[in-house]
Amino acid sequence: MAKKKNNRPTWDEYFLKLAMLASERATCPRMHVGCVLVKNKFVLATGYNGSLPGQPHCDDVGCLIVDNHCVRTNHAEINALVQATTHGVNIMGTTAYITNMSCTNCAKALIAAGIKRVVVFSDYHDTLATQFYIDAGVEMVKLNMPGKEIHYDLKNYSSAKRTKKSR
Ligand SMILES: [Zn+2]
Ligand SMILES: [Zn+2]
Repeated sequence: MAKKKNNRPTWDEYFLKLAMLASERATCPRMHVGCVLVKNKFVLATGYNGSLPGQPHCDDVGCLIVDNHCVRTNHAEINALVQATTHGVNIMGTTAYITNMSCTNCAKALIAAGIKRVVVFSDYHDTLATQFYIDAGVEMVKLNMPGKEIHYDLKNYSSAKRTKKSR
């Protein structure tokens, strides 16, 4: 990979960082996951694991555990798919940027919706997802976790400063 200037992320790192940001909205204390669906560098939908609209959050009322999994929330991938669906967005051919490798059910849903590429930086214990992705010909990319910082350098890059200089 070429050396980067000014902490400028690659496209994959950029969208993974957006997925990390989406995960901040998660409401289940057992896991925070974010998912961003991207086509031609265009964000089509985002999601995080959270309760159904209007329903209580795990953070407030506790998890709903079945077979050692919390089932109160929809997973990030499903919520991203639902967001695309409710806005009439076709996600055929997209890349899914996910903070954690999908569970089997989310992998199947993403495959059925036509995603072509998955980019993650973390593993998940449920390995059937990987097999489903391989069988479906979905490209899988595992990257190192992008930096957790947002390099918002107001001092050096603010438009206010440029305007002042140019005058
Ligand atoms: Zn929960
Ligand atoms: Zn899932």
